[in-house]
Amino acid sequence: MSARLEAIKTIGKRKRSVPEAEQIRHLVQFATHVFHQARIEELTKKTARNWLDVIEGKGTFDPDGANEIAEALKNWAIRHGATHFTHWFQPLTNGTAEKHDSFLNWGPNGSILEKLSGKDLMKGEPDASSFPTGGLRNTHQARGYTVWDPTSFPFLWEGGDGVTLCIPALFFSWKGAALDHKIPLLRSEEKLNQVASRLLQMGSIPAGRVFSTLGVEQEYFAIDRSLFVLRSDLLLAGRTVFGASPAKGQELGDHYLGPLNDRIMAYMREFEDAALHIGIPVKTRHNEVAPAQHEVAPLFERASIAIDHNIQLMELMREVGLKHDIACLFHEKPFKGLNGSGKHNNWSLATDTGINLLEPQGNRFVFLTLLTAVIRAIYHHGPLLRGSVASVGNDYRLGGAEAPSPIASIYLGEALEKIIEEILHEKLNDTQIRNIDLGLLSLLPHEADLSDRNRTAFFAFTGNKFEFRAVGASAHCALPICVINAIVADSLQLILDELAGAIGDQELKSEELLKVALPVLRKYLSEAQPILFNGDNYSLEWEEESAKRGLPNTRKSFDALSAFIDKKTVAVFKGILSEEELQSRYDIMVEQYAKTMNIELNLMIDLFQTQILPAAQKDFILRGMQQKFAPIVESAMEMAEELKTMQGQLFDLGWEAKGKVFAELLSPKMEAFRERVDQLEKVVDNTLWPLPKYRELLYLI
Ligand code: ADP
Ligand code: MG
Repeated sequence: MSARLEAIKTIGKRKRSVPEAEQIRHLVQFATHVFHQARIEELTKKTARNWLDVIEGKGTFDPDGANEIAEALKNWAIRHGATHFTHWFQPLTNGTAEKHDSFLNWGPNGSILEKLSGKDLMKGEPDASSFPTGGLRNTHQARGYTVWDPTSFPFLWEGGDGVTLCIPALFFSWKGAALDHKIPLLRSEEKLNQVASRLLQMGSIPAGRVFSTLGVEQEYFAIDRSLFVLRSDLLLAGRTVFGASPAKGQELGDHYLGPLNDRIMAYMREFEDAALHIGIPVKTRHNEVAPAQHEVAPLFERASIAIDHNIQLMELMREVGLKHDIACLFHEKPFKGLNGSGKHNNWSLATDTGINLLEPQGNRFVFLTLLTAVIRAIYHHGPLLRGSVASVGNDYRLGGAEAPSPIASIYLGEALEKIIEEILHEKLNDTQIRNIDLGLLSLLPHEADLSDRNRTAFFAFTGNKFEFRAVGASAHCALPICVINAIVADSLQLILDELAGAIGDQELKSEELLKVALPVLRKYLSEAQPILFNGDNYSLEWEEESAKRGLPNTRKSFDALSAFIDKKTVAVFKGILSEEELQSRYDIMVEQYAKTMNIELNLMIDLFQTQILPAAQKDFILRGMQQKFAPIVESAMEMAEELKTMQGQLFDLGWEAKGKVFAELLSPKMEAFRERVDQLEKVVDNTLWPLPKYRELLYLI
């Protein structure tokens, strides 16, 4: 029997028993594996105060405390079974990196002891020549440093049979250039804090610090691992490069929010449990639209923490999956014809005193000024925001069912759009909250949200935050969040400068302030008005209309990347990434794009030549059908040959040229090749077909 049929048989016999799980007590288990605030408070007063100030964004770390902290961290880690520590950092690969060292050190007279010094804590030096640097550092200039990021809590990671103390770290080159996602993100937070604090000062709202907040909705597919391993495309590229549509897909809408099956529930519970231990506040879980697709979402947090947590959560989901014989897929489009997976980024700004600055019922001057800054930012930097979610995987998803369109636009919803209209026409009223009466005796009318939802929108206001749905499921959200922070800070700065001129030395109360501000806001809003669109972003009319409005529509991610080296971007990234650093990121992304496409092409050719074609030929010979199916087989063979030839011709080209050829010439040919091969799947004897089919991948779980 073929490996595929064997696997199906075994899955059919699988017992549906749920593994014994410990009784979950969220409050008891939360953050047991994090060196959090309460643990910091046990340090000496001076050290604790300094570290907490740093975490709150109000101070600079004093290295005098490093030895004490290192000792406390080591003792705490050892008590929990740790033997090793690592600087845990985020190079430009979408993943994380770690190099473990044990606590072992030589003691006096040849003895051995367990130690972590302040120096070990503060700085590491991985030989980092193999990380992507985009030309910022050559292989012979390999020095890269990791330094402890004291704004993020150290944590313990359980893996294999061991426990490791993870020290969140930043990664940069010998010359000081940022080589990771975290440095620019933290810089963008600083910049946003400075500008937003100025806004609060004008509005006489006391606050010590402003942060961006982020809630990440992570979508994923969970499939049986014994089928997953039989598909090298899933294994190596995370998506199926071939696969005919199953008889039933998602058209009945019966999976979305449907009951969770036992196996999936047990899996979710276990990774959520592990997540809680390292302080990730997982809250929401549900089935998504496509069969085998799900979502997990935590409570929102300060963005830089939420981003660390998202990466940790993805890692846990992969690891825990192995225990449950489940492969967790984060690719943006693992299955053609079904919904892809996103990572919706819910973004807002909040003060350390807990005020959400995008709350429409809050201070109107602050809200409307910030709203105007966001609208202007997206209007001016739409291409950059599009570039921040650019990837090969997202190209299969954006503009498709359930994913937003790549055309930059903002959905504000009826109520806010009305407010904008009122500002533009100089008659701003108080916002009216609408009540919804269901006409049921048992229920009082309830307040409607200020906005409906629009799943098709590129950037949508959702009540008291913006939702950026275009981020792909596998992405590292530091880049889009850094871009949003940077462009909003820039626009807000511009608006505040002008406001400061209009206000002069007048001491104004909130409503008077708003009156003075309105003409300035009106000017920026009327300029940026073309970006506002409440309708269906998937429609052909919007495609035409948006073109008329001059909004960019960059379908191919490859073309979107150039926004990173645009002069406009260089200006807006001042203090966050230098021109050289931006160029290096552009180079890295271009290279990754071309390499990813090349891997997919390798997979197509390999699967076709070594598995699919032999199976098809064997079947047709056995059944005497060579002639009948010759047209499909021959044309598939020709297409494979043509693709191989074209791939060979790329050899001498640079990455940019390779990427361009893939995006423009090869990708449509690969798509056509796939369609031809999928035709074969529909006619070859089922028992001979070598690759697990969509119906098996999606429904045998
Ligand atoms: P949806 O109904 O859009 O699927 P979810 O409940 O799945 O919503 O996710 C919404 C996410 O938005 C959650 O992670 C939530 O914590 C987050 N969120 C709510 N308010 C804010 C805010 N002010 N800033 C950032 N994220 C927020
Ligand atoms: Mg959700």
